[in-house]
Amino acid sequence: MMKIFDAHCDVLYKMWLNNKISFKDSDILHVNYENLVFAGSQVQCFAIYIPESVRFDDRFNVALEMVDIFYERILNENPKIKLVLEKADILKLNEEEIGAILTLEGCDAIGHDLVKLKTLYRLGVRSVGLTWNFANAVADGCREKRNGGLSNFGMEVVQLSNDLKMWTDVSHLCERSFWDTIELAQFPIASHSNVYSLFQHPRNLKDDQIKAMIAKKGIIGITFVPYFLNETVQNTHIKDILNHIDYICSLGGERNIGFGSDFDGIDDTINGLEDYRGYKVLVEELQKQYSNEQIFKFCYQNFVDTFPN
Ligand SMILES: [Zn+2]
Repeated sequence: MMKIFDAHCDVLYKMWLNNKISFKDSDILHVNYENLVFAGSQVQCFAIYIPESVRFDDRFNVALEMVDIFYERILNENPKIKLVLEKADILKLNEEEIGAILTLEGCDAIGHDLVKLKTLYRLGVRSVGLTWNFANAVADGCREKRNGGLSNFGMEVVQLSNDLKMWTDVSHLCERSFWDTIELAQFPIASHSNVYSLFQHPRNLKDDQIKAMIAKKGIIGITFVPYFLNETVQNTHIKDILNHIDYICSLGGERNIGFGSDFDGIDDTINGLEDYRGYKVLVEELQKQYSNEQIFKFCYQNFVDTFPN
């Protein structure tokens, strides 16, 4: 079975909203333990995403609540799921084990406080998404009209991420923030973004951004959000995802493609990719067009190779 590394899901958010969901087999979840096993998961990233509705003063605390869910309801209740803090933790996983990486989607939770980011690092966070769609103290997101860049504090956040060997995640940034970040970040990824040339959505990356990611050895996690694929939106298929992969390959990015499903962060799904089990179908579709060696890079190896720590 093809090993899968998925760089983004919002299962912690869903479990935070509903404290009765069991990670083991809840069918409310796109990503649950049984689905991961079924489709060959080797590593899953779990995002801490703080909804806009949470008051500023409460955001760090909500981040801690999601960290608690990660340890109590995912790791402790599912002994085959192993915490990943460094690359060696991935490489020593056996076939039955699944590595779990804690990631931050947007720096809203840390306010203006680097100590909070260091604290999240100490709790296991290994990837720092700078914004969600709007502005925060770090940078402007892709829906923030003024298109501002990284703040001085944002530069400190990227520098700290470099020093601690965490990924800097450029997904959700506005263009100017992207360019400020790509210049500074030693370990850039786009955990869940697609190709702007194929569908002009502010969450997608333009050709020059993709080329800059390639130049920096960054990985782009192709995402399964139906709204980022093409104009058909309500009726999207796995072949639409393959178009985005083909395109990045045509720019020379075969070593820069990964997957970041956004499962549990989306209500609508792509036909054939209704939940994590769909990865099996995706791999079968890829096999019609790519060698197993290439598919292994897309599904697993590219993200593992760039894991900085
Ligand atoms: Zn997102």
